[in-house]
Amino acid sequence: MTKSLYGREHLDFQDSVRAFVETEVAPNYARYCTQRFIDRETWLKAGSLGMLGLHVPDRFGGGEAGDWRFTAVLLRELARFSAGFSSSFGIHADIVAPYLCDLTTDEQRARWLPGFASGELISAIGMTEPRGGSDLANLATRAERTDAGWLLNGSKTFITNGGRADLVVVAARTGDGRASSSISMFVVEAGMAGFERGSVLDKIGQAESDTSELYFADVEVPEANLLGEVGRGFVYMMERLPQERLNCAVSNLANARGVLDETLVYARTREAFGTPIGSFQHNRFLLAELATALDVADSFVEDCVVDHVAGELSPVKAAKAKWWTAQVQNDVLDACLQLHGGYGYMRESSVARHWMDGRVTKIWAGTNEIMKEIIGRDLGL
Ligand SMILES: Cc1cc2nc3c(=O)[nH]c(=O)nc-3n(C[C@H](O)[C@H](O)[C@H](O)COP(=O)(O)OP(=O)(O)OC[C@H]3O[C@@H](n4cnc5c(N)ncnc54)[C@H](O)[C@@H]3O)c2cc1C
Repeated sequence: MTKSLYGREHLDFQDSVRAFVETEVAPNYARYCTQRFIDRETWLKAGSLGMLGLHVPDRFGGGEAGDWRFTAVLLRELARFSAGFSSSFGIHADIVAPYLCDLTTDEQRARWLPGFASGELISAIGMTEPRGGSDLANLATRAERTDAGWLLNGSKTFITNGGRADLVVVAARTGDGRASSSISMFVVEAGMAGFERGSVLDKIGQAESDTSELYFADVEVPEANLLGEVGRGFVYMMERLPQERLNCAVSNLANARGVLDETLVYARTREAFGTPIGSFQHNRFLLAELATALDVADSFVEDCVVDHVAGELSPVKAAKAKWWTAQVQNDVLDACLQLHGGYGYMRESSVARHWMDGRVTKIWAGTNEIMKEIIGRDLGL
């Protein structure tokens, strides 16, 4: 971790997250994967250690960190252990948090934030729909005004924490005009009549993270659960996507770094032809290339973190960080699996798990192709 970017207080927080991973997450991890969700007790423990409420004001039970570097530290430690863990907690603590902290009234904050920070209320965000995620402006879930509030109909898919979330931030169409003026954001709560969830989706990786379909059939959402202003939903999402993409970038690199470190140990100890496999020039050069790729990408992402802390991270720079780190991460994971030979192909091996977990980073939160569209447009193309 770069000394200039992270101070003593960040390093102390890093120690507490690392201890949480070692004592709470690692011993229970296999069970989370089998049951395909993270225990509620683990969420509560994370909440009690201040990991879930970094963005939440102090008066509502949060840490009010006011410094995104604490989030970066959290993501790095979680992603080094598991991309799925960093995704589940990251969606809650860093992706949903800005909606619930910035767009809410005081009444809404008092209602949701204490439980959000403590881990009693698990959250999710539903943007993607079965007929498409890249073209967010084209979403079909609709909310119609009623005397008491809104009537919500539609569905969402691939929703992280979806199966067990108590609060789901949902994007829905509330008008017929252009996306920038016809989408609004709502909080749907567990137990609302007509809100149903599908079974936990069977992914090729990240077994511990509960990813689900959500269905809304005539769900009566009270006016008190509207987030911000009617018709501003698309703008709200666009404003918050750079942070989500930086979140991905930080996690991608930390995860790849962890796997590379493990692989270096293996390359020093596993022998072929009477010598460690890392001593063959091909493998030495390969590992040198991977270490270089990670260090160079880290510098760019740290620059993005500095921009973000100053409130200056641009959508284009965040898009560059997101797709590039996803590519570097997947290159590292694939090469590390290869270096483990047949053991790397066994499900029980750590590198195989990370390889399966990591593939999605080129897809979620905006695919690599969509990131390049954003960058290409900025180039005037
Ligand atoms: C494990 C997991 C967790 C997720 N968690 C969440 C969550 O919590 N909340 C949420 O809302 N969503 C979530 N998602 C959804 C994710 O963000 C979408 O899968 C992603 O945005 C892509 O949308 P899509 O799957 O509908 O693909 P599509 O939009 O159908 O795209 C299919 C392919 O076409 C390509 N494509 C599309 N448009 C273009 C274009 N203009 N130019 C070139 N290529 C293009 C895409 O890059 C992709 O390769 C999650 C997904 C996964 C897999």
